[in-house]
Amino acid sequence: MSASAIAPRRKRLSDGLTVTQKVFIRSRNGGATKIIREHYLRTDIPCLSMACTKCPEIVVPDAENNLPKFILSNDPPEFPQPIGKHYVVLDTNIVLQAIDLLENPDCFFDVIIPQIVLDEVRNKSYPVYTRLRTLCRDSDDKKRFIVFHNEFNENTFVEREKDESINDRNDRAIRKTCQWYANHLKEYGINVILVTNDRLNREAAETTTPNKDEEKLITKSLMQYVDLLPNSEEIKDLIPNLEPTNNQELIKSNNNVSKEPIFPEYYSTARIMGGLKNGVLYQGNVQISEYNFLEGTVSLPSFSKPVLIVGQKNLNRAFNGDQVIVELLPESEWKAPSTIVLDSEHFNVNDNPDDDNNENADTTELGINGTSNIVISDKDRRLLAKHAIEAQKEKKVQPTARVVAITRRSWRQYVGQIAPNSVDLQTGGTQNVFVILMDKCLPKIRIRTRRAHDLLDKRIVISIDSWPTDQKYPLGHFVRDLGGIETAEAETEALLLEHDVEYRPFSKKVLECLPAEGHEWKAPASLTDPASLAKDPLLANRKDLRDKLICSIDPPGCVDIDDALHAKKLPNGNWEVGVHIADVTHFVKQGTALDAEGASRGTSVYLVDKRIDMLPMLLGTDLCSLKPYVDRFAFSVLWELDSNADIVKVDFTKSVIKSREAFSYEQAQLRIDDPNQTDDLTQGMRALLQLSIKLKQKRLDNGALNLASPEVKVHMDSETSDPGEVEIKKLLATNSLVEEFMLLANISVARKIYDAFPQTAMLRRHAAPPSTNFELLNEMLHRRKNMSISLESSKALADSLDRCEDPKDPYFNTLVRIMSTRCMMAAQYFYSGAYSYPDFKHYGLAVDIYTHFTSPIRRYCDVVAHRQLAGAIGYEPLSLSHRDKNKMDMICRNINKKHRNAQFAGRASIEYYVGQVMRNNETVETGYVIKVFNNGIVVLVPKFGVEGLIRLENLTRDTNGANFNEVEFKLNFVHKETGKEREIYVFDKVEVQVKSVLDPVTSKRKAELLLK
Ligand SMILES: [Zn+2]
Repeated sequence: MSASAIAPRRKRLSDGLTVTQKVFIRSRNGGATKIIREHYLRTDIPCLSMACTKCPEIVVPDAENNLPKFILSNDPPEFPQPIGKHYVVLDTNIVLQAIDLLENPDCFFDVIIPQIVLDEVRNKSYPVYTRLRTLCRDSDDKKRFIVFHNEFNENTFVEREKDESINDRNDRAIRKTCQWYANHLKEYGINVILVTNDRLNREAAETTTPNKDEEKLITKSLMQYVDLLPNSEEIKDLIPNLEPTNNQELIKSNNNVSKEPIFPEYYSTARIMGGLKNGVLYQGNVQISEYNFLEGTVSLPSFSKPVLIVGQKNLNRAFNGDQVIVELLPESEWKAPSTIVLDSEHFNVNDNPDDDNNENADTTELGINGTSNIVISDKDRRLLAKHAIEAQKEKKVQPTARVVAITRRSWRQYVGQIAPNSVDLQTGGTQNVFVILMDKCLPKIRIRTRRAHDLLDKRIVISIDSWPTDQKYPLGHFVRDLGGIETAEAETEALLLEHDVEYRPFSKKVLECLPAEGHEWKAPASLTDPASLAKDPLLANRKDLRDKLICSIDPPGCVDIDDALHAKKLPNGNWEVGVHIADVTHFVKQGTALDAEGASRGTSVYLVDKRIDMLPMLLGTDLCSLKPYVDRFAFSVLWELDSNADIVKVDFTKSVIKSREAFSYEQAQLRIDDPNQTDDLTQGMRALLQLSIKLKQKRLDNGALNLASPEVKVHMDSETSDPGEVEIKKLLATNSLVEEFMLLANISVARKIYDAFPQTAMLRRHAAPPSTNFELLNEMLHRRKNMSISLESSKALADSLDRCEDPKDPYFNTLVRIMSTRCMMAAQYFYSGAYSYPDFKHYGLAVDIYTHFTSPIRRYCDVVAHRQLAGAIGYEPLSLSHRDKNKMDMICRNINKKHRNAQFAGRASIEYYVGQVMRNNETVETGYVIKVFNNGIVVLVPKFGVEGLIRLENLTRDTNGANFNEVEFKLNFVHKETGKEREIYVFDKVEVQVKSVLDPVTSKRKAELLLK
């Protein structure tokens, strides 16, 4: 909460000048606590202009003894007189609305951000705040953004006046800052422009009569400012689409009839707070159906199943992923989930982007006008909730709800392309057009652009600005174009942006954290050498394991080698087994820019044709990578295992190792299988293989799941980098060898760090799936195959999956595993204080506790686990931030999100390249029906790992004659090609013609399937 009142006492710092503020801090239970804050007003805050000769005299060094850097140019951009050379001051709304524009390399140079603006931005939008901070931190030489601490400066501090709102006070503080700068820089011939879209603020600046000798303030709206730029024509397209605000202003001023709202207004904050408290409103995140963009669900804690939201009006402008407030609808409006497929891409493609009120014949059917306005009392609403919870236990009819407010927008930048039929090719100039987003769960966006014609075949990035009640589609603006549709560069960048993957090169500040020796860095030859010890006293705590016969086994071509192993027979007949993991945290120290970047990226991202690293290459592929033949620092887990692979003893130590060989899975397999190889290294590998088989059997006996996903691999032509062929991934015994020991290491480390840090250990859990997740699949299995999946325990589930065999079709079992995987919960990172011990369980692996320790080069969880393990064994003390629940919570949230995004990005990349491969080969393949709808079927083609919807109109000419049986999961129709009656059930094996086509509306390539 921000400052609310300021006492009228002021003193000077030299003679003790302070400002006292009462600040309200929101406390845990939602109430407000009043605290008093005092801060000193200072006279030594510099303007940071290189032109200034006064400020360098007054500045004082900061706590780290650094002097502030003077960044604003002494030769800033120049406008025609009377403005001339100038700096720019921004208000809060400009930052919030136009952050894309501020980041644009072609405009906005020498910009002053008053501290009060930075504070307000932080309160309103954390993502924008982060971007603004980055801009201020990294733009020294190019864009030159600075933060001016107006609130601490005696000359610019303003007190809140009686009856003055906080907003008005803050606006006045911004104007005061401008005024001070204007006077301060006058003698150097530099002007100051305040850019604000707030008309009242501009008027206030115009009408304030400056003191004698003071300059009159220059203010501009964003549009007026851009108009003055030499490149204004290009920049104009990027201005946020704030039409509604202008409209509202227009309506207000002209006293016009306002437009009919299409959507209901959102509830007020007071009503929401009351409703949540009374239990008649609920908060949750909207998930839009992947098959029907007009249907969403919200998971609510008190309900066993997600509550349905049907129709555009009930969704009330919610985006996929938004945090919303919902209200249950009366029982008469509860429904069964739709059995119709509907995608936004093909819906209303002929809308006119200039028409605000296009009435649609199908709006009623789609529920736009579907909500009644029955008034229900709070008491009845609570009763309704009771009924709803009961109704979920039965079948068919589900409780429905409507969105009454949005508490957090998931809006980000989106990639899409202009809908060709929304462009008027006759007229040039600025026009309204629709942008179809790549994410098909989202509506199309209306933007205004001058470049509609030349953007037609491009992938473009847009930002969303607003979605007023009287607009059928959200309003946004163009940000930049990525290049031609279906060029590899544009498509790759598009999918990175779509999955929020940070892919820009590492900044200078991050790279400065790397060892100065660069690739020349070497592990010391001796760990006891006094000179080396003087440089790194922790060397004394490291074990020298360079005599161990260690090797690594990875996919071919792997350069970021996280792990290596060894095994050695002990005199007592047991085995010494070591797993050695790259010692990333030796190089990535807590609290550095490098650490912050790794934490923010959270994971490396693997695409078909490129890898986006979490850490700079120097570490990932060289200094940390456990390459063969060189000394490397490692974090080692050393076990004594008996011949049954039971743990006799476990030890953890930082070490220095020398890997003897880097094998691919295949090479390792060949070496193990070759009876002529009898050296100690090979013997060790054989022992590892034998032990891993026992470990695996034990896991399976405990109920570990063997799930499946239709994983395919795309082979790239090494010469041309063109995709060649698609292959289903094969697994060798050596894959399993490495996997088993990594699992064992992760489990051992999890136990150790949980012992040492019971409240904040970094762990990974996998919840048991709720039985409702399997309802539909079980119903299908029961109806069609007389089989079922048991959910009593993971062991029961694993066994029942084994029983889902069709003797006539060996693939059927894999199909069931693929479909089961989709019913499972996602595994998640968490800190141990967030759950009680029984909930730590990793269901899929059937272990009681688990973490990720073995891939610190490419996962941030592992970095934290390494630091905690180092703390647990007394190697070095653990930093506070990994012992703090709140900090750990933030880390976990971020890495969970990044991990999910990385998976989606990887899959999307495979999908794109599979599409490119199929482009030139039209084939007939075997597919399996995995879903049956009223108006189509979904077929999975294992060979390419693709699935596609075959719409009813592509199955038959007589769509009215088709018959859908919901209970039997059956669709009857007269086949288009053969003219014969067809009966398609779920799980049917079918022949389909597969070809890759470019969708004319979305320009997205996808597999088109046709039933043979
Ligand atoms: Zn100065």
